[in-house]
Amino acid sequence: MKYFSTRGGSVELSFEETVLTGLAPDGGLFIPASIPELPLNWQQAWAHKSFPELSIEVLSLFISPDEISPADLADLVHATYNTSAWRHPEITPLQPLTTDEPCLKYILELFHGPTYAFKDVALQLLGNLFSYFLQRRNNAKSPGDVREKLTVVGATSGDTGSAAIYGLRGKPDVSIFILHPKGRVSPIQEAQMTTVTDENVHNIAVKGTFDDCQDIVKALFADTTFNAKHHLGAVNSINWARILAQTVYYFLSYFAIRRTLPPGTEPELQFIVPTGNFGDILAGYYAKRMGLPMGKLVIATNANDILTRFWKSGRYEKVDSSLIPDSQSVGGVVETLSPAMDILVSSNFERLLWYLAFENAQNTNPGGRDLRENACQTVKDWMDKVKSVGRIVVPDSVLELAKRDFTAERVDDAQIRQTIREYYTSPSKSYTADPHTAVGLHVAGALTRPPGTIQIILSTAHPAKFSEAVTGALAGVPGFDFDTVLPEAFKTLLTMERRVIEVEGPDVELVKAVVERFEGVGA
Ligand SMILES: *Cc1c(COP(=O)(O)O)cnc(C)c1O
Repeated sequence: MKYFSTRGGSVELSFEETVLTGLAPDGGLFIPASIPELPLNWQQAWAHKSFPELSIEVLSLFISPDEISPADLADLVHATYNTSAWRHPEITPLQPLTTDEPCLKYILELFHGPTYAFKDVALQLLGNLFSYFLQRRNNAKSPGDVREKLTVVGATSGDTGSAAIYGLRGKPDVSIFILHPKGRVSPIQEAQMTTVTDENVHNIAVKGTFDDCQDIVKALFADTTFNAKHHLGAVNSINWARILAQTVYYFLSYFAIRRTLPPGTEPELQFIVPTGNFGDILAGYYAKRMGLPMGKLVIATNANDILTRFWKSGRYEKVDSSLIPDSQSVGGVVETLSPAMDILVSSNFERLLWYLAFENAQNTNPGGRDLRENACQTVKDWMDKVKSVGRIVVPDSVLELAKRDFTAERVDDAQIRQTIREYYTSPSKSYTADPHTAVGLHVAGALTRPPGTIQIILSTAHPAKFSEAVTGALAGVPGFDFDTVLPEAFKTLLTMERRVIEVEGPDVELVKAVVERFEGVGA
């Protein structure tokens, strides 16, 4: 399997190059040359597989055996998921939300990894892939050659940073520098990051905002001399391996539901996904396109609703221009109770746009040549326009294609609070949801659906991780005691030794100096 950029289809890369490069040099995102079909007997052959076993099956459809041998792939996957880093034997267990028979509403808990959030599922694998590729390259070198190293640099407002740090801690030939705005991440998230004291992990607390941190990281990547010297790597959600790793739990939950039904019965599934950068739900789209039976995928956004507005209007625009006459680009990210979904644009949406552009070109010009290039050009034009004027309007035919596979709804903070209360106090079965999960739960309740549809809401974080929102929503509710949801690990975290480097202002040169200090020249 080869990969190409959404903005230029002529160059094809291996899986290894795709993973190590992250973002394509033309600014596009890498996608597979084709979407593989499932093996003919997959429903029988995969029916009883565990998470790691399914992961091997799905990954091997996207990774050529001459790039990673089947034996090595199995080792990589087992080293990722068969470890004590996971607190649940099923990795991503499904929990019934009602005691009804049959149960029509389940939660897919994705937060049993080391940092208690769903990003662990992909970042634990990505860390192992990085070090696998680097070690292979270094083992092929003669003694005395300079070892190849990767310097991962990223900015975080909390979630991605800690999951990336846990994914890369202690890995040979990889170091990681994570910038966070000093004093502006939650105490638990700050502790999760800064208590990792492995030598290759460097937390940088920048006096400034999250946007300052992000600008510094962008400037580092754009500095070709610095980048070439340190081999910068990215772990943000545009890395293809992250999407790929996440397709697995869609399959796992399909089989888990199927096992609860009478033999031969096919479930009507509806996945509801709390969405920010469109990574988690895009993994579901790939699973659907591969042939996993499911209804429309449901996008659940918070008040940062660019995706919901797109599905309602065909306009992809940072600011809702229907609210502002003669709109100029004003406004920015809205701060909500679900901060990991507070985005202005959704980086992975570009991948879906490519498939929409491709299918639209196919429909308007059946049998046409150069359809791939054609779609890349369309995406490039769209993304240029988003950058220059802050909006695009897609043709109706493209919006129709988008509506065939997805539907989208928006949830505000008041609804988040109300939903957390509603599920906690449910007479049928009490569930303590984190505020991101609550966005999905609220949408699930509001959707019309065919009778018998089984809803699966993806739960992206442990409730204790966003304690303020949860305790705020449940204040005064009889019987609620936050201590009952607080994991023991969080209590000890706050007392552990920390390592953090402070940078006195949002200045790229200061951050460069830190990287140079730890990486040195030729170190
Ligand atoms: C990152 C994150 C999301 C959003 O996931 P996307 O893949 O960006 O859509 C939702 N919830 C939590 C807790 C997250 O950390």
